[in-house]
Amino acid sequence: MDVLKKVPVREQDAKVRAANFEEVCYGYNASEAREEAARCLKCKNAKCMGGCPVSIDIPGFIREVEAGDFEAAANVIAKASALPAVCGRVCPQESQCEGKCIRGIKGEPVSIGKLERFVADWSRENGFVPKAAAEKNGRKVAVVGSGPAGLTCAGDLAKLGYDVTVFEALHEPGGVLTYGIPEFRLPKDTVVRMEIDNVRKLGVKIETDVIIGKSVTIDELMEEEGYEAVFIGSGAGLPKFMGIPGENANGVFSANEYLTRSNLMKAFREDYDTPIVAGKKVAVVGGGNVAMDAARTALRLGAEVSVVYRRSEAELPARVEEVHHAKEEGVMFHLLTNPVEILTDDKGWVTGMTVRKMELGEPDESGRRRPVEVPGSDYTIEVDTVIMSLGTSPNPLISSTTKGLEINRRKCIVAEAENGQTSRPGVFAGGDAVTGAATVILAMEAGKNGAKGIHEYLCGKA
Ligand SMILES: Cc1cc2nc3c(=O)[nH]c(=O)nc-3n(C[C@H](O)[C@H](O)[C@H](O)COP(=O)(O)OP(=O)(O)OC[C@H]3O[C@@H](n4cnc5c(N)ncnc54)[C@H](O)[C@@H]3O)c2cc1C
Ligand code: SF4
Repeated sequence: MDVLKKVPVREQDAKVRAANFEEVCYGYNASEAREEAARCLKCKNAKCMGGCPVSIDIPGFIREVEAGDFEAAANVIAKASALPAVCGRVCPQESQCEGKCIRGIKGEPVSIGKLERFVADWSRENGFVPKAAAEKNGRKVAVVGSGPAGLTCAGDLAKLGYDVTVFEALHEPGGVLTYGIPEFRLPKDTVVRMEIDNVRKLGVKIETDVIIGKSVTIDELMEEEGYEAVFIGSGAGLPKFMGIPGENANGVFSANEYLTRSNLMKAFREDYDTPIVAGKKVAVVGGGNVAMDAARTALRLGAEVSVVYRRSEAELPARVEEVHHAKEEGVMFHLLTNPVEILTDDKGWVTGMTVRKMELGEPDESGRRRPVEVPGSDYTIEVDTVIMSLGTSPNPLISSTTKGLEINRRKCIVAEAENGQTSRPGVFAGGDAVTGAATVILAMEAGKNGAKGIHEYLCGKA
């Protein structure tokens, strides 16, 4: 065994997986996990923990994996995280825990994410269930949204004995974990639903098909229904568009809509009557993780897919692993290219897209080099479907129906980072609704901080 290298993880062959929705990565088995755990130095000053927003005792759980006591490892992780099977699969570990791992100074860091995933999968297969609070305190708290922020906040409050109800607008809980991230990266039945069930087992109630701000307002929950505090984890689900001619044509989707139709309406299953027009030649505009997910989904639905991105490969905001997987599967990249018009036939269906070449200028306020148009460089690519993946912002429904709730110019709710307190007493918020589109683990950290803030607020009020 070369201790400088990670124990390799088995994956589905790229050619095979490009035509199915089965999970790409198989994860470690028990002996691979123990071998990888043995690479960890169990540092006294474990730098990896400084890179984990929810402060999992990383050397603590890895020590148990190495010893083969997987239940003990699961108990260590459960103290800090309600969604380890999710995080082990989708967290950007390379820029978090693994980015700080001492083992990574010489050689490759410990594969912390894959070890977390192994422990979480072992827990599921062996019926491990996190412990509920011994006693309830009878105080009611409402949580808006069942994404990672809401679920984490709800789980932590339930562990403290609160009577927690999560209100979710859609018919399935999970937020982006359920309707955004595709099945081949995050299986819904075995991973997402199982971890949501574990949150329910802590005593959390989840009511779906309830749109806060329409079905009932936050003011009504607090003034008429006896909720003493509310946590808003409603995410950032409103897609952005470019504002170019032809963007309203048939065959133009936001990535959110395309992925939701695939994930929630099971566009990829033959036994479902799918309402999606999958497309034969698809252009995905944008270069983030969401763009890679949309491109790889379109590919699996049978299309020839190109990603159109206005900067170069070095500036692609998607995780390196996602870009690598997309390329391996056959997604093509038009880099330094920006759409200027979507072309249609006389019935309004997409037939092509005019794009313009770009070059990189001076760095902008984000630190990345600004794309500058190359005059006279326009050309047309033949496509029948365009998926816009340009980012999202929070839906203003809640802020516009809740008295005294301050938002900023990006329509995000203004809340304290350390406890989620908003401008409205008793109302807390966190996750994408506050930060704009970010990551699962940052939403979970915000959910944890919100639970702590609510507990302190209610203890002070009692
Ligand atoms: C396609 C895609 C891929 C991604 N991939 C990754 C990845 O690989 N790794 C990573 O770390 N992050 C990834 N992200 C980002 C990550 O998923 C989000 O940052 C995270 O889910 C935010 O969590 P949240 O709880 O704040 O919001 P969400 O997950 O958006 O959940 C909010 C929930 O609130 C509900 N809601 C909204 N309004 C109301 C209302 N008025 N009443 C009731 N309910 C309401 C919504 O229906 C939703 O279920 C991805 C995002 C997308 C879209
Ligand atoms: S920094 Fe790396 S080697 Fe050290 S405890 Fe954390 S995972 Fe193990």
